[in-house]
Amino acid sequence: MRQPLSAGNWKMHGSQSSVKTLLAGIRAGLAEVRVAEVAVCPPFPYLGMVQRELSGTSVAWGAQNLSTETMGAFTGEVAASMLLDFGCKYVIVGHSERRTLYGEDDVVVARKFAVARAAGLIPILCIGETLEERERGITRDVVARQVDAIISLEGAVALADAVIAYEPVWAIGTGVTATPEQAQEVHAYIRKRVAEHDVDVADNLRILYGGSMKPDNAAELLAKRDIDGGLIGGASLKAEDFLAICRAANA
Ligand code: PEP
Repeated sequence: MRQPLSAGNWKMHGSQSSVKTLLAGIRAGLAEVRVAEVAVCPPFPYLGMVQRELSGTSVAWGAQNLSTETMGAFTGEVAASMLLDFGCKYVIVGHSERRTLYGEDDVVVARKFAVARAAGLIPILCIGETLEERERGITRDVVARQVDAIISLEGAVALADAVIAYEPVWAIGTGVTATPEQAQEVHAYIRKRVAEHDVDVADNLRILYGGSMKPDNAAELLAKRDIDGGLIGGASLKAEDFLAICRAANA
């Protein structure tokens, strides 16, 4: 039985005061979130505040990125050990914004994934096709390549306890959501691809949907058999909307 996960990706948003308000709002509504595990991924500077405000609650937290290196002269980078020092459970790797805006290719993403796991963090691996790739009919090839990059470095066992977020790039931050059927089709394919290597790992793998998930479309998406939660960007910045998405897994 896979427990759904609702993870908020705050991207580069927030201030000390807005983070405090958002966390207070999330804490206040947690009792009604009965099924999903809830996690938030703030920008690095707010991890300490998140740790203080959420310790002792059921909410987990994580970062949005990490270094491929473990320590040393790497100005501006943040190591996995530092994330652990702030109580992180999760770290997002391979978000499409990092792939496209910061040139992170499959090799870098696989290395970050491995470094996160080696440190004891749970990577949330983001994969997904662009609109152009979908229109060319190569969605499956793209997600297969992105998943295979992880499997070829460390084997399918690397995905045991990990999380994959299928995020069609054309749906991220655009207000256009994949239909539940479109998402389910790709989620099922991802699980099948992993099952070709290891059936147990595939069965237990949580595959989240990400891309304009909102209170009004979450329940339909989460009702699909292979959709095990959401990675939520814009809607995770408002406690009320984020909690409504978290509650959508109650049904
Ligand atoms: C994301 O950035 O991971 C994301 C899914 O964003 P949004 O929900 O805003 O589309």
